[in-house]
Amino acid sequence: MIKNVAVIGAGTMGNGIAHVFAQFGYNVSLIDISTESLDRGVKTIEKNLDRMVQKEKISTEDKNNTLGRIQTFTEVAKGVNGVDLVVEAATENIDLKLKIFKELDAVTADNVILATNTSSISITKIAAVTNRPDKVIGMHFMNPVPVMKLVEIIRGYSTSDEVTNLIMETSKSLKKVPVEVNDYPGFVANRILMPMINEAIITLHEGVAGVEEIDTVMKLGMAHPMGPLQLADFIGLDVCLAILEVLYEGLGNPKYAPCPLLVNMVTAGKKGVKSGEGFYDWSHGTKDLVVAANFKK
Ligand code: NAD
Repeated sequence: MIKNVAVIGAGTMGNGIAHVFAQFGYNVSLIDISTESLDRGVKTIEKNLDRMVQKEKISTEDKNNTLGRIQTFTEVAKGVNGVDLVVEAATENIDLKLKIFKELDAVTADNVILATNTSSISITKIAAVTNRPDKVIGMHFMNPVPVMKLVEIIRGYSTSDEVTNLIMETSKSLKKVPVEVNDYPGFVANRILMPMINEAIITLHEGVAGVEEIDTVMKLGMAHPMGPLQLADFIGLDVCLAILEVLYEGLGNPKYAPCPLLVNMVTAGKKGVKSGEGFYDWSHGTKDLVVAANFKK
C-alpha cells in the first residue's frame, strides 16, 4: 500500500504530480534544490486548485485538505523520510537523473519504489545505478498533469510484475488511465509523436506548405486539438530535439534524424513558448497564434 509519496522537482511536471497525489489523499513531500521553484510550484498548485473550486469540481475544503497534505523540502534525504514511493520529475538530463537515483538508493529503505517521469531516458539505464532495479519504473505523466488522463507506465528490463501492478493500481487511484509499455527509446508516446512533429518541420522546411497551413490541415483534417508545429512550440523545441536524438541514436534508423531546421532553430535559441519564439511569435502571450517573422510569407 502506498500512502506517502515524495516528488523530486517542483517544475512544470513535478507540481502537477504533487497536486494529483495530494488531491487523492496521499501525503506528499515536494522536493527541489531551488526554493524559488518550490514557491512557484506551490503557487501553481494553489492556482490550479482555485480554478477547480470555481468550476465546482472540488470544494474549498477539498482544496485546503489537498494543500495541507503537501510539505516542501530542499534536501532529498529529509524529504524522502518514511515515503513508500518516490516520483522523480527533475530536469531531463541523464547525468543528473543517475546522480539522483544513486542518492535515492542510498537514502531510502530497500522496499521503496523509485519511479521517474522521464520523457525519453532509458528506465533500464537509470535502474542499473541502483541496487533495486526490480523496483525502478517509469511513470510518465502528461502535461498538464491535473488534466491529462494518461500515465505511460514503463517497465525497465528488470522491473518486477509486483511493482508494475502496484504502480498501475496507484495510477488508477489518481483517476488516471495507466498504459503499460516496455523500455525502448521514446517508449510509445514520443516514439509516435516526435516523428510526426519532425515530419511537420520537414514539410515546412521543404516548402510544401506554411506554418498555418500545416497546422490547419492537422487540426481540421485529423481533429487534433492543436497543430504539430504549435504543439512543438508548447513542448519546447529543445525538448523535441533531445527526444529525436534519443530515438535516432537508440534505434539507429535515419528516419528519426532531426530536421536541420529544428537543429538551427534550437541553436539560434528559438525554443518555442518558453523563449518567446518558435514557429509562432509568443512574445505577446499564448492566446493568439501569430506566425514568427521568419516564417511569414
Ligand atoms: P522543469 O524544468 O519545469 O522542472 C525541473 C525542476 O527540477 C526544476 O524546478 C529544478 O529546480 C528541479 N531540479 C533540478 N535538479 C534537481 C535536483 N538535483 N533535485 C531536485 N530538483 C531538481 O522540467 P519539467 O518540464 O517539469 O520536466 C521534468 C521531467 O518531466 C523531465 O524528465 C521531463 O522529460 C519530464 N516530462 C516533461 C513533460 C513536459 O511537457 N514538460 C512531459 C512529460 C514528462
